[in-house]
Amino acid sequence: MKFTQPKLPYSPDALAPVISPMTIEYHYGKHERAYIDTLNKLIEGTEYAEMPLEEIVVNSDGKIFNNASQAWNHIFYFFQFSPDGLKEPAGKLRDKIEEQFGSFEEFKTKFEEAGTTLFGSGWVWLAADADGKLYILQGKDAENPMTGGMKPIMVFDVWEHAYYLDYQNLRGAYLKKLWDIVDWSVVDARYEN
Ligand code: MN
Repeated sequence: MKFTQPKLPYSPDALAPVISPMTIEYHYGKHERAYIDTLNKLIEGTEYAEMPLEEIVVNSDGKIFNNASQAWNHIFYFFQFSPDGLKEPAGKLRDKIEEQFGSFEEFKTKFEEAGTTLFGSGWVWLAADADGKLYILQGKDAENPMTGGMKPIMVFDVWEHAYYLDYQNLRGAYLKKLWDIVDWSVVDARYEN
């Protein structure tokens, strides 16, 4: 099985000015693509060759894990955005966020803090355990909550390649702007399904 890069559900300029067309060109067009192309080469003729991507992420390590997880994480990241999506969580996820974090505003502050305090490259995750309890998790490099038995709900990429063209060194400014393009109908559905 060869993995193909899914087409974005919006045009390359749709997320500007939060994410510029140039960042889409490099981050989606070159970085995400390279992880998928490299993964396809690495799994050829191995026990992973016929596995779904999620299973590779959970069962592999080393180079194969790094490329499989980075492929999965980027697809998950880009598919949670929309220029005209639902601007705040609703339903069960909204209730759970308010119960655990006090308010949506406080949740956003904690999530941004997790992003700005993560040293080096990685991802900030909103994940849920089997009981639906929410966790904000810092993941180094290619880490993914699925390897710890958790369900990913939302993710912000804090590798420099995600923001340097648009925000230079200002990771905090990038994280704050991402809220403008998160489509909470996608995130709500991930929590409920
Ligand atoms: Mn990235």
